[in-house]
Amino acid sequence: MRLRDSNINKLDQDVFDALIIGGGINGAVSAAALSGKSARVALIDQRDFAGFTSQQSSNLAWGGIKYLESNDFGLVWGLCKSRNHLMENYPSRVKEIRFYSTIEKGFRFPPRFIWLGTWLYWFFGRGFTQTPRWLPRRTVNAEEPVIRTDNFYGGFEYSDAYLHDNDARFVFQFIRSAMDRGCIAANYVESLGARRENGIWITRARDGMSGREFEIRSKVLINAAGPFVDEHNQKTGEKTAHRHVFSKGIHLIVPQITKSHRVLTFFADDGRLFFVIPMGVRTCVGTTDTRTESPFSEVTEEDRLFVLDNINKRLNLKKPLTREDIIAERCGVRPLVVGTGNGKGNERDWLQMSRKHEIDISNETAHISIFGGKLTDCVNVGNEVAGYVSAMGIRLDNPDYKWYGEPHRSVYDEYMQQAKQMNLDGYTSPDAIEQLSQRLWRRYDRQALELLADIREDPRQAEILIKGTDYLRCEIRLAKQQEMITKLDDFLRRRSKIALVVRKEDIRRAEGLMEACEILFEDQAQTKFDEYFAEHAA
Ligand SMILES: Cc1cc2nc3c(=O)[nH]c(=O)nc-3n(C[C@H](O)[C@H](O)[C@H](O)COP(=O)(O)OP(=O)(O)OC[C@H]3O[C@@H](n4cnc5c(N)ncnc54)[C@H](O)[C@@H]3O)c2cc1C
Repeated sequence: MRLRDSNINKLDQDVFDALIIGGGINGAVSAAALSGKSARVALIDQRDFAGFTSQQSSNLAWGGIKYLESNDFGLVWGLCKSRNHLMENYPSRVKEIRFYSTIEKGFRFPPRFIWLGTWLYWFFGRGFTQTPRWLPRRTVNAEEPVIRTDNFYGGFEYSDAYLHDNDARFVFQFIRSAMDRGCIAANYVESLGARRENGIWITRARDGMSGREFEIRSKVLINAAGPFVDEHNQKTGEKTAHRHVFSKGIHLIVPQITKSHRVLTFFADDGRLFFVIPMGVRTCVGTTDTRTESPFSEVTEEDRLFVLDNINKRLNLKKPLTREDIIAERCGVRPLVVGTGNGKGNERDWLQMSRKHEIDISNETAHISIFGGKLTDCVNVGNEVAGYVSAMGIRLDNPDYKWYGEPHRSVYDEYMQQAKQMNLDGYTSPDAIEQLSQRLWRRYDRQALELLADIREDPRQAEILIKGTDYLRCEIRLAKQQEMITKLDDFLRRRSKIALVVRKEDIRRAEGLMEACEILFEDQAQTKFDEYFAEHAA
């Protein structure tokens, strides 16, 4: 039986210690922390895991240099610590990257002032990264000729970190590790609301694929529904001290702008930081920050023009970027926290306080709501939630278990030894930007050992299955067994980033895609293929 069916059948069989609503980053880390510490946990998401906000980020693990401007030193101090912690614990997934910034004449601060700010930021980052570097015009011209320097006023380089794969894969890896520790997780299962009876939460759930409704029982209910936290609390009658307001942000993915593997940063016409982020053989450009009322958002023509205009103004491109260069788009809302009494959230909330996470608890009803947050701060969220659940009287048999981080170095050494013996890197595709051994380790860590065994048994497993991508036959097999691919979009957009870097029409024509569908969906392959292209027709 497929993993999802088997998990759904278990959801109404037990009283769980905790049920988590939402499999974005906040729900995923809560599940990984609690199941790692031995709680009996279930998690459901109405969409795919990371299928809402957590697939729309800038893919950065960063200390928030821009919050220095609003004097929110506490926030930057904390985020820098979280960033360093992620880099230490995920050496292959969260990596240091240089940010290359130029300041134009007329900017609101003199460059030397900002230069001092980068040193302050480095100090807040406990000197964990490379030191900042001042950039005279001739250095910028020599190192990044793609940057226009005709209106140049000053430049500097500093470090932060980025998620090497996409954000959604990073989130899924927490879901996977939670499932490895006994969590019963299922995607496309919606909570219709919950009631409390005799000290137990009873959540009414609907399987989005079959339409079947059932009930899930838990001692604690954790609302990690991201932009829908308030809506879900209304359904359960929970009152909280905080609530969300939304800021919309978009990114456009375009052909590679520079091969340097730096993030180019500029201040856009509206004064906000604006990034050109490397994404393998592509470049991701953005973002915007527009206040909005609804959690549902889409890229408008105005958004596209804003991003394209800003980038064209600041880069020396042979041909300005146009709509035709856009390979894929990302759009989401940041769920930002404000106090419940705060009207629409005042400007101070908007710029500063709202960028933190807040966790509201009700010991009386054993209910937890997670507001705001960032991918960067995810380990803290997981630990805090586990602490609150324990304080509610749930016994955690393994309270000190370290539930996050890549496996011990010895597992990596063993993997690399085996990879070397079988000359795994000899299978690396000529177009790949990194060796196969590195890519498989980063995506699967200890499961990569299983892939090596598959390839040893049958070298065809190391063949690229979907032409124009890096994905091997054995990876698709593993995805089928372990990654709960329910729709083709789950694989193309979130477990992999194919849909972000390959144009839709090229995906449709890609040799091997139908064979991948047959592995993933067996007799439903054609239906799932058609469903994907019908949903992504535009
Ligand atoms: C444009 C943009 C750029 C960003 N850049 C960065 C960055 O570079 N670095 C960083 O650290 N952070 C960044 N962020 C912030 C970060 O992405 C978000 O704060 C984070 O992803 C929110 O995660 P979440 O788990 O709270 O919400 P979500 O990811 O939205 O997860 C909530 C989940 O709950 C599910 N759900 C909702 N209602 C129900 C229900 N009734 N039943 C079942 N499931 C339900 C949804 O389907 C969803 O999957 C960015 C955000 C945006 C929008």
